[in-house]
Amino acid sequence: MYNPKSKTAAEFISDSEILSTIEYARENAANRALVESVLEKARACKGLTHREAALLLECNDPDLTEHVFRLANEIKHRFYGNRIVMFAPLYLSNYCVNGCVYCPYHAKNRTISRKKLTQEEIRAEVIALQDMGHKRLALEAGEHPLKNPIEYILESIETIYSIKHKNGAIRRVNVNIAATTVENYRRLRDAGIGTYILFQETYNKSNYEALHPTGPKSDYAWHTEAMDRAMQGGIDDVGIGVLFGLETYRYDFVGLLMHAEHLEATYGVGPHTISLPRLCKADDVDTDDFENAVPDDIFYKIVAVTRIAVPYTGMIISTRESARSRERLLELGITQISGGSRTSVGGYVSPEPEEENSAQFDIADHRSLDEVVEWLLDLDHIPSFCTACYREGRTGDRFMTLLKNGQISNCCLPNALMTLKEYIRDYASPATRAKGEAMIKRLLEDVPNERVRNKASEYLSRIDNGDRDFRF
Ligand code: SAM
Repeated sequence: MYNPKSKTAAEFISDSEILSTIEYARENAANRALVESVLEKARACKGLTHREAALLLECNDPDLTEHVFRLANEIKHRFYGNRIVMFAPLYLSNYCVNGCVYCPYHAKNRTISRKKLTQEEIRAEVIALQDMGHKRLALEAGEHPLKNPIEYILESIETIYSIKHKNGAIRRVNVNIAATTVENYRRLRDAGIGTYILFQETYNKSNYEALHPTGPKSDYAWHTEAMDRAMQGGIDDVGIGVLFGLETYRYDFVGLLMHAEHLEATYGVGPHTISLPRLCKADDVDTDDFENAVPDDIFYKIVAVTRIAVPYTGMIISTRESARSRERLLELGITQISGGSRTSVGGYVSPEPEEENSAQFDIADHRSLDEVVEWLLDLDHIPSFCTACYREGRTGDRFMTLLKNGQISNCCLPNALMTLKEYIRDYASPATRAKGEAMIKRLLEDVPNERVRNKASEYLSRIDNGDRDFRF
C-alpha cells in the first residue's frame, strides 16, 4: 500500500505504485493535451508529483521535449541563478564488508589495493585540496565496522575542520557513508557535518537484494529508511540519489521522486540535494555486465524533468560525467559539480603508481579545478565556493523557505562572488583570475538589495587586501 507519510520503506516506496505510474506514463505519453497541462502546472515552479514527472519523461514528442529542456533551464535560473557550487570527494578508506556487485570495494575483490588514511595522511590530503582552492568536501568511505567505525569518521571530520593551511579552510564537510543508527547520525550532526548523503543505488527491492547479496547493506529496509533515522538524529540536510544503470531508469526515477515526496510529507522538508550518478567502469566492474545503461539523451531528460519536479532541490553531477556531458547538464538544472576529483584513497597528494589501484571508479572529467573554474566562467556560470547557509543556521526548512520565496538570492549571489574572489586571489591561474574579476565586477550590480550590495562591495575590497571568510 502506498503511503508517503509512512516510516516503512515498503509503504513510502511502493512497488505497485511505481509499476502503475510507469504504466500510466506509457499509456498517456502521446496525449499532448495532458502533457501540456502538466507543463503548464510546472511553470508555477511548485514541483510535480511522481506521476506527472513520469509522464513528462515518457513523452517523446520533440517539441514537448524541447519545452521540458527550456523550462528546466528557466526554473534553475529562477531559484539558483547561474551559480554552480563546487566540491570535491575525499576518499578516506576503501575497506568494505559489503558485497555490492557494481562497486569494486566489495569484500571479495582481491585485485583492488586496500587503503585507509591515517589522520596524518588526511591532513596531507586536506592541505592538497585547500591548495587547489576547495572549501567543501564530500567524505567517502566503504562500510567496515572494524576498519572504519564511526569514531574514525568523527575523528577525521575533526581533523579536516582543524586544518588551516595558508588562506585555506574546509568549511563544509558533507558525509557519504553507509546507513547507520540514529545515535550515530546524532554524532555526525554534533561533529558539524553539512549534508548526509546516501545513494539508494536502486529502489527496486528484489533487484537491490540481488545487487547487494551480502553484508549489512543487503538489508533493503535498513538502507531505504536511513534518511528517516538521519532526520531523527537531527540532520536536516540530507542528499539522496540512485546509481543509474543498475535498474531500469523508469523505475528508479519514480522511486527517487517518491523518496523526495516522502521526506517532504513526513518532515516538511524534501532532500537538500539529489545526486545523479551513472554507473562507471571500475577495477573489477565491467559496465557491459549491466543491461540498464542509460544513454545520454535519456539521461539529459531525466535531469531536466527532475529539475522541474523538485525545483528547490540542489542537483549534483560528479566527474563520472565527461566535460561535454556536464556542459549540457548544467543547462538542464544541475547546481553542484565536483572538480579536480580523485577517487583513489590518498590520490590528492600523489597519483597512484600503475600497479596500485584503490579507486572506486574511473572518472570521465580529468581537468584540474582551475580548468573547471575557467570553463564555468567561459560558459557564464558563476563558480561558487560558498558554504554560508549551514554555517548561518540556514538548514532544513529554514533554507527551503528562503529559497522558495526568493529571498535567498540576497545572500547567495554576494556569497558566490565573495568566495569566487577568494578563489581567484589565492589559487587561480592568471587567465582564470582575469575572467573571474570581470565577472565579479559585472554581477555585483545584480545584487537586488542596495545595502547588501554596498556591504558586498566593501567585503570584496577587503578580500583584495587579504581578509577572508565574509558571508551573508
Ligand atoms: N559505503 C557507502 C555506502 O554504502 O553508501 C558509501 C558510498 S560509496 C563510497 C559512494 C557511491 O559510489 C555509492 O553509493 C555508489 O552509488 C557509487 N558507486 C559505487 N560503484 C560505482 C561505479 N562502479 N560507478 C559509479 N558509481 C559507483
